[in-house]
Amino acid sequence: MSSGTGDLLAGGADGPGRLRALTSVVLDTLETAARARGGPLPAGGPDAVARRTAALCDPVLPEEGVGAEAALADLVRAVAEGAADPADPACVAHLHCPPLAVAVAAEVAGAALNPSMDSWDQAPAAGVIEELTTAALARLVHPDAPAPDALITSGGTESNLVALLLARERAAPGPLRVVTGANAHHSVHRAAWMLGLPAPVVVPCTDGRIDPAALDRTLAALDCAPALVVATAGTTDEGRIDPLPEIADITDRYGAGLHVDAAYGGPLLFSERLAPLLKGLDRAVSVTFDLHKLGWQPVAAGVLAVADTALLAPLSLRTDYLNADDDTEAGLPDLLGRSIRTTRRPDALKIAATFRALGRRGLSELVEHCVRTAEEFGRAVDARPALRRRPGPVGISTVLFRPVVADALGPEAGDAVVAEVRRTLLLDGRAVLGRAVAEDGDGHHRLWLKATLLHPVAATADLLPLLDLVAEAAERAARGEGDGGGGDSEGGGGDTAAPAEERLSP
Ligand SMILES: *Cc1c(COP(=O)(O)O)cnc(C)c1O
Repeated sequence: MSSGTGDLLAGGADGPGRLRALTSVVLDTLETAARARGGPLPAGGPDAVARRTAALCDPVLPEEGVGAEAALADLVRAVAEGAADPADPACVAHLHCPPLAVAVAAEVAGAALNPSMDSWDQAPAAGVIEELTTAALARLVHPDAPAPDALITSGGTESNLVALLLARERAAPGPLRVVTGANAHHSVHRAAWMLGLPAPVVVPCTDGRIDPAALDRTLAALDCAPALVVATAGTTDEGRIDPLPEIADITDRYGAGLHVDAAYGGPLLFSERLAPLLKGLDRAVSVTFDLHKLGWQPVAAGVLAVADTALLAPLSLRTDYLNADDDTEAGLPDLLGRSIRTTRRPDALKIAATFRALGRRGLSELVEHCVRTAEEFGRAVDARPALRRRPGPVGISTVLFRPVVADALGPEAGDAVVAEVRRTLLLDGRAVLGRAVAEDGDGHHRLWLKATLLHPVAATADLLPLLDLVAEAAERAARGEGDGGGGDSEGGGGDTAAPAEERLSP
C-alpha cells in the first residue's frame, strides 16, 4: 500500500528488511561494547557510569532526530558498555540469568509482530501458543491433577500477587490470613498489603527453612480462620527449599490453602534427578514459577500454575470491546481472564521456542549444570583457608561464603568488611557478587557474600578467579585499605601483583 512503511515499521513484508539492517547495527555494537567493557560490569561506580552514559545519549529527546542507525549505535553502546552482563561468569549477584540466544531471537519476532494477549483479534496464533505453553507448564507442576492450568505473568511478584488474590476470593468473606516463613520473598508481604489483607503471620525458620512444628502451632493459634500458607522452593537469599511434604500435611490437617513460591526452584522439575527435591509441590493449590531465573529467558517470563482451572474464575471479566458475550458465543476465544493486566506481551513465544529447541532433556542438562557447578564451587570455597562457606548444604545453585579475616574483627566490623569486599569488586568492575544475611553455625546472623550460579555453560574453573578476587580484596579491607565505602582509593600499597585499578576519579 503506502510506500513509506518499510522505512519505519518492523512488521509487514517490508519490515524485516529494514529490521535486518538495524539489527546488524545493534549486533555489531553489542559485540564491540562487550569487548570495550572487558569485564562483568563497567568500572568506576555509579558516577562514572552515569557520566559516560549521558555523554552518549543526552539529549534523549532532541528537537531533530539523529536517525535510527545513529541513535541505536549510541544507545546500544551506552547500555552495553555500562551493563552488568550475566553472561560473564563473574556476574553472580542475583537470580539474574544470561538469556539464551534462541529466546532472544524469538523476542525479536514477538516485538516485530506485537501481538497483545488480551483479545483474540490481536493475537490469533500467539494466543494458541500461549495456551499450549501454559498447558505444558501446568502439567509439569501438577501432573496428576485433572484440570491443571497456568498463567503467564510478569514474574514472581505478579504470580504471588495473583495467588494471594485468588486465595482471598476463595476465603470471602474472610479475611484471609496469610502465613509465611521468615525466609519468604518480600513480594508476599507486599501482595498482602496491596490486597488489603492483614499483614502475614511470619513463622520462624530453622537453617533457612520453615520450621514445621512452628507452622503447626501458628495454624492452631489461628483457630480455623481461613488461611493460606506460602512456602518457598528456592529462597532468594540461600536457595533453600521448605519441607514441602510436611508443610502440605499440616495445611491438609488445618484445611488451609498452600501456595508455593518456586520462582527460583521450579525449573528443577525439568530434571528427573533433581525433581524429587520438589516433592510435595504438586500438593500446592498454586505455584509461582519463573523462567527468567533458572529458565534463561530474557525478562519477563513468569508463570503461576494452579491445580484446577476453575480456581482462575475470579479473574474473568467482560468488557464489550475485548470479549463481548456474542463474540465469545460465536467462538472467539476469551483471553482477558488470563491475567490481571490488559495489554500484554507474547512472553509465551520465547518460552515455547526454548522448550521446542532444547526439549525437556536439554533444559534438564542446563539446570543440572548449574546445580553441579554450585556444588563444586562450594567445595572450592571449603578448600581455601582464607574463605569460609556458610555451614550446611549448598541451596540449589546459591553459595554463601565470607572471608575468614572478617571473623576475627567482631560482628559489626566483620560484616562491614564483607560489605566492603562486595562494593570494592563492584566499583572496580571486576565481579558482581550478592549479599545475604543468614544464620551462621553458632546461630548468629551474619553477612555473607552470595554467588547465585545461573550460568548454564560456565565451568567451575571459570568461576574460581572470583575466589582469588574476594580473598585479596578482603585482605586489603581488613587492613583498612579498602575503598568500597565510597572514600578515596589509597592505591599506594602495591602489595600484590593485582591488576592496576582503572578507577575513574569523579
Ligand atoms: C525472584 C523471586 C521473586 C520475585 O520474582 P520477580 O520475577 O522478580 O518478580 C519471588 N519469590 C522468589 C522466591 C524469588 O526468588
